[in-house]
Amino acid sequence: MTAHATRVLVLNSGSSSVKYQLLEMQDNSRLAVGLVERIGERDSRLVHTPLTAGAGGKRERTGKIADHTEALRAVADELARDGLGLDSPELAAIGHRVVHGGLKFSEPTVIDDGVLAEIERLVPVAPLHNPANLTGIRTARELRPDLPQVAVFDTAFHTTMPEYAARYAIDTETADAHRIRRYGFHGTSHAYVSRKTAALLGKDPSEVNVIVLHLGNGASAAAVAGGRCVDTSMGLTPLEGLVMGTRSGDIDPAVTFHLTRVAGMSVDEIDELLNKKSGLAGLCGDNDMREILRRVDEGDERARLAFDIYIHRLKKYIGAYSAVLGRVDAVVFTAGVGENAAAVREAAVAGLGPMGLAVDADRNAVRSDEPRIISPDGARTVVAVVPTDEELEIAQQTFALVGEVRTVDA
Ligand code: AMP
Repeated sequence: MTAHATRVLVLNSGSSSVKYQLLEMQDNSRLAVGLVERIGERDSRLVHTPLTAGAGGKRERTGKIADHTEALRAVADELARDGLGLDSPELAAIGHRVVHGGLKFSEPTVIDDGVLAEIERLVPVAPLHNPANLTGIRTARELRPDLPQVAVFDTAFHTTMPEYAARYAIDTETADAHRIRRYGFHGTSHAYVSRKTAALLGKDPSEVNVIVLHLGNGASAAAVAGGRCVDTSMGLTPLEGLVMGTRSGDIDPAVTFHLTRVAGMSVDEIDELLNKKSGLAGLCGDNDMREILRRVDEGDERARLAFDIYIHRLKKYIGAYSAVLGRVDAVVFTAGVGENAAAVREAAVAGLGPMGLAVDADRNAVRSDEPRIISPDGARTVVAVVPTDEELEIAQQTFALVGEVRTVDA
């Protein structure tokens, strides 16, 4: 009997966590989803949710999981309990989220030793993310050396940015020597959401100009012209751009000299300050937009100021990218805040009527998992909410690369 290999396991390996989803590509359905967190600590936790009929509910396991190898073995065991093990002939490939692909990787790429070496070479520009991604890849290759493994890069969608958008105005030799330029992140989400937005408008991606606002705990904006990214708000690292949950986004770089000279802070302390103790959390003590909106409703002034700073930055990027694109067919909100916080969407376009931007209050209040238009009928620029799905995008890109060549005997 011949079975078709039509499933893809998507792995998102962080420094102390692994998130995973097993997808069936014939209908884009999820067969299982899960998460291993606090890897290396005594109280590691694996939460596995099978989604196939009759498989039962969520299963949870706590106790030390020493490293990524043990974590992936535990994931493989859980999948095997549902008859979905890594050795199943239906598994076509494993798709890995890789944060930094530099300039070299503009497409999803089948992983071999050369690709691994290149991802390793990029560690200096992504010291927090690429090492964890590499560990995940190496472990998955040990478990299934025969299976195609594909890297899908967060930076890939942004490699189309023109030089004048990607370069910082600093000394060219220094920039080139240290590969300092704007790479952008969240590319998988921006690619997926901009394509879905074109479909929502009934157009081909090549026909539309879109501003995508990916507002999660991390946040970034992208200007997408005819399906190609022409600018994005994150830069060399994910620190640049919008105000985020714990990251400052844009600041005068001289703030860092000042903190060194005047406050005596070390580079590592400043790194921690700007990445982990700034943004909404630094401004008001909370990084969760739900909590901030609750506090704003109660009249809390610190939360109000944090919200206003967040919205002001967002407006500046909408304005900037409107100028970059010239004609804007849609402004689209996505990710945790963008999909759920009607108040953020309303405030971000408030007063932008003269630019053709407005939201309809009733449409904006609707809660749904579906892509939807929230601007009034006939608006010059459509405002929309399009839920992102990075795992599906990674699975689709992976499958497109390797799926059709994998028909196996079972
Ligand atoms: P993400 O990084 O895309 O998972 O987004 C996570 C963030 O989304 C959280 O930190 C919250 O700030 C935000 N979020 C999630 N649900 C809601 C909601 N119902 N209202 C407002 N913000 C939300």
